[in-house]
Amino acid sequence: MDPVTPAALLRASPLPPLETRILLTHVLGWRHTQLITRGDDALDSTVVERYRALEARRIAGEPVAQLVGGREFFGLDFEVTPDVLIPRPETELLVETALAALENIARPRVLDLGTGTGAIAVAIASMRPDAQVWALDRSAEALAVAARNAARLLDTQRPGGALELQQSDWYGSLDTALRFNVIVSNPPYIASGDPHLSEGDLRFEPRGALTDEADGLSAIRKIIAGAPTRLAANGVLWIEHGYDQAEAVRALLSAQGFAQVRSEHDLAGIERISGGEWPG
Ligand code: GLN
Repeated sequence: MDPVTPAALLRASPLPPLETRILLTHVLGWRHTQLITRGDDALDSTVVERYRALEARRIAGEPVAQLVGGREFFGLDFEVTPDVLIPRPETELLVETALAALENIARPRVLDLGTGTGAIAVAIASMRPDAQVWALDRSAEALAVAARNAARLLDTQRPGGALELQQSDWYGSLDTALRFNVIVSNPPYIASGDPHLSEGDLRFEPRGALTDEADGLSAIRKIIAGAPTRLAANGVLWIEHGYDQAEAVRALLSAQGFAQVRSEHDLAGIERISGGEWPG
């Protein structure tokens, strides 16, 4: 029998080539370029078996990020488990917008509600070493993942200190005396009956990170209602939401008394985040 090579596995795989390459580099411990330079290497049968097992699980639907245990977000490699939402590229817009709001504030305080992997909080903390960043989640399992990501990705000597990880149902367990310059959240915003919940990667992600089991806006309502007493004067709140929720979220922000209410478009041209400033 011919030896099995990376090139042969790539040719034979029914998966999109990028997915095959991610699974192959994972089992081989190689860089993507090595799949080309060493494409005709004969592979060890145990490595081939491990690749084929992952390929079969991917064909059965498991997300690539869960199969390899990680996903890149904002240039950082985050650990991903089935306990957390997989970081999405569109969420980088939330990080960029938060960073812009923090630009002229020294030693800012930032709050990330429903942190999951910790991707948003860790990305902000890594770009702004002086920021004090709180990351909350009601899931203990998610907080454990966020803690590992923060420990691996953040400089222990950063002036803002370690990420403040707290188990909390939205603002529930947060010290009421704290005031933040920026509050961000990527909450569960998919309505309970949305058919997407039973399609693709979403089937394998924690349901509590995806849907509020209601109209898709109930978590967003809680986040907006609780923000005014947590924001410093001129502090801002930015929330990620679904492709068709921008108008509703802007209306909620305006009704709560937020100023400068607006939405920002993601790279696909969709109004993906909305926010406003608390006059205080
Ligand atoms: N953006 C995700 C999706 O539609 C949902 C994330 C969320 O509910 N916060 O796949």
